[in-house]
Amino acid sequence: MTDQKTIALDLDSVLADVMYTWLEEYNLIYNTSIIKQDIIEWDLHNILPLSEKCIHDLFTHVWKYRWKDIPPTSTDISIVTDLLQKAGYRISIITKRDRATMSFVANWLDLHNIYFNDIVFIFDNTSKACYPFFLLVDDSPINAVEILYPRRIVIFDQPWNKTLTNYPRIRKLNELFNLI
Ligand SMILES: [Mg+2]
Repeated sequence: MTDQKTIALDLDSVLADVMYTWLEEYNLIYNTSIIKQDIIEWDLHNILPLSEKCIHDLFTHVWKYRWKDIPPTSTDISIVTDLLQKAGYRISIITKRDRATMSFVANWLDLHNIYFNDIVFIFDNTSKACYPFFLLVDDSPINAVEILYPRRIVIFDQPWNKTLTNYPRIRKLNELFNLI
């Protein structure tokens, strides 16, 4: 079964450090100086005076117009994804997003030379749990609770998921080698 060899990777805030660029844009527009460490809740509209739609629209804007500026979460993710494949794993990128950002995501993955076997763009509310993998790396508290044993979830450390203490956690993608 390929599922037992497939590692699923979330894109936003696991591979692409998009909140860094999102906050740059936000600070420019609203003349603020918020940093990523200030974002201690998953629901941005609980800590920023912005509607869910505005948050979503700014996210789409950043991917469309500033995708070249979005940094990877670490400089070695190309090497890490290459080594995972060479170790016999399949890499499936699973990302929930606005359809308008799809081509820019593909460009970003090429720019950073990310190795992967397939990519799933989810445009609706389908759970990531519906897709085949044995292990998912994600920063989302919502996805964390949806992945049930024997499948595994690894939390990618971000300021907004610190309360998820009952899961394995990595700060950089290369720490995944300690868990598989
Ligand atoms: Mg994410």
